[in-house]
Amino acid sequence: MYIGAHISASKGFEAMGKQALKLGANTFAFFTRNPRGGKAKEIDREDVDKLLTLMQEHQFGKLVAHAPYTMNLCAAKENVRSFSIEMFRDDMQRMEYVPGNYYNFHPGSHVGQGAEKGIEMIAEALNDVLFEQQQTTVLLETMAGKGSEVGRSFQELRQIIDRVELDEKLGVCLDTCHIWDGGYDIVDHLDDVLQEFDDIIGLDRLKAVHLNDSMNPREAHKDRHEKIGQGHLGIEAITRIINHPALKELPFILETPNDDEGYRAEIALLRKLSES
Ligand code: FE
Ligand code: FE
Ligand code: ZN
Repeated sequence: MYIGAHISASKGFEAMGKQALKLGANTFAFFTRNPRGGKAKEIDREDVDKLLTLMQEHQFGKLVAHAPYTMNLCAAKENVRSFSIEMFRDDMQRMEYVPGNYYNFHPGSHVGQGAEKGIEMIAEALNDVLFEQQQTTVLLETMAGKGSEVGRSFQELRQIIDRVELDEKLGVCLDTCHIWDGGYDIVDHLDDVLQEFDDIIGLDRLKAVHLNDSMNPREAHKDRHEKIGQGHLGIEAITRIINHPALKELPFILETPNDDEGYRAEIALLRKLSES
């Protein structure tokens, strides 16, 4: 299985690969810049090449980069939105240094403008930024529906995808805590939920999983991640998730509240529970 966690990008690309190996990981997530936004560091080509070599040697799966939280493609304030779009554009250029990987982002918060308007604005930004030659697949993350988050249902993600011209550059990252909090019963009805995903979005769009337990009961719309097996999903449901035929080949990224040792232990546990 491909499993990893979020890794700090502060020491560069090769350092992230080495840190992933220490955790027993063979994929990882990283923020393309400070998660709160701001300017990204210059990319060191040699450093990137060392990571690419390491990934090849250790048969890594695809990486799942994460956009900064401050990126809101449907912000109501024009300066926030234009800043977000330029950040996104810059990230797309930077991702070409590690070609063929994933870039995951929160579709956005419509901040009172309404989901319909948010969806329009997000699609418009994607149409502005995505380009034919890019080798990165951009993943819309399924959201918990906290506040005015867009992407709280499979339908909302579908509506975004439908409006994007280069839709072959788009995929979906399924966050298990978020969809549970959003109301999808992946504990007792995993097959039905995935069938619904297939009917509405298409399972061929599903490219990565954020594997998190949840501190809250289903449909809470809270988005509080819990350690694997210690929340409302529980270890049995998580075992079914990682072994489900529609999911088991995907990169699983942990975003659980852990330190390095905690991640190492969770990765080891999940590998033991994985049948592949
Ligand atoms: Fe996220
Ligand atoms: Fe997530
Ligand atoms: Zn979350």
